[in-house]
Amino acid sequence: RAKETAKGGYCFYEIEMDAAMRTRRLLETDLRDALARGDVQMVYQPQVNSRGVLSGVEALARWRHPERGDIPPSYFVSIAEECGLIVELGMFTLRRAFEDSRRWGRLKVGVNISANQLRMKDFAVRVAELVEELNVDPRQFELEITEGFLLGDDPETQDMLRQLRQMGFTLALDDFGTGYSSLSYLKRYPINRIKIDRSFIANLGMDTESEAVVGAIVKLARALKLSVIAEGVETADQLQRLTGAGCSEVQGFLFSRPVGAGEIDELYRSRSVALSQQSA
Ligand code: C2E
Ligand code: MG
Ligand code: MG
Ligand code: MG
Repeated sequence: RAKETAKGGYCFYEIEMDAAMRTRRLLETDLRDALARGDVQMVYQPQVNSRGVLSGVEALARWRHPERGDIPPSYFVSIAEECGLIVELGMFTLRRAFEDSRRWGRLKVGVNISANQLRMKDFAVRVAELVEELNVDPRQFELEITEGFLLGDDPETQDMLRQLRQMGFTLALDDFGTGYSSLSYLKRYPINRIKIDRSFIANLGMDTESEAVVGAIVKLARALKLSVIAEGVETADQLQRLTGAGCSEVQGFLFSRPVGAGEIDELYRSRSVALSQQSA
């Protein structure tokens, strides 16, 4: 795009653009190519109940750049959001998760969905096509939507979520507690589960407020008949406090980092996840 402008304009533009912006631009092109070549990988993080029984997995995208190494998903997802690649990235991750899920019977598979995907008018139609093509059961999948990105009163987003629920998908509100109007979302959106943000979990045992907040979220979930899971559980102490607060499902490095589909195959066979060595 820059090359199309006049020579003077091009130079001026290049100098003005700071290094971070230039990197973003380069990565945009590389991400486009990576998606076209199928170079983005999926890893899966086990979700377990308090006894370590495998209850589900969350699909997380990984991109290893040939020169720059691993690019964090929070970064490349934001690039994709900005340059319109999020639709491709989103359909790609859904396809991969759908394909891999067939190895794990009816195990619940969480897939992160960006708010911009939900705003795409034909999102439900494209998802339905993919469901048909790969012959999967939507009831096996939980779509994770980050609370902070939902628009409070956007009727189209609400309608899209209802359509997805009607197809059989369940919905989780991701990073719960970090957004602006958590409580009103819970009433407005057809949500099945809350994922308590890991910032609250990280502070468990460090301050009394976090423990009170987690306890309140669990009670709220129960009152609204929603299930609840804690993310980012790293220590046995956090696990114990969560169990004490009534949160019986967790995800975090204490049990496992996100791993390849092959490793989930093994966990699925044994159905249980041992505490990881470094954290136990
Ligand atoms: P998220 O959906 O909240 O995913 C959980 C993040 O917490 C993951 O980071 C995971 O690796 C990390 N995590 C899990 N357990 C622990 C723990 O015990 N301690 C710590 N410190 N971290 C833990 P990751 O994979 O870097 O992903 C970051 C975010 O990027 C995700 O947050 C999600 O919002 C987004 N993302 C990842 N994959 C996708 C995708 O396929 N599509 C979309 N739209 N977004 C994605
Ligand atoms: Mg998530
Ligand atoms: Mg989260
Ligand atoms: Mg997060």
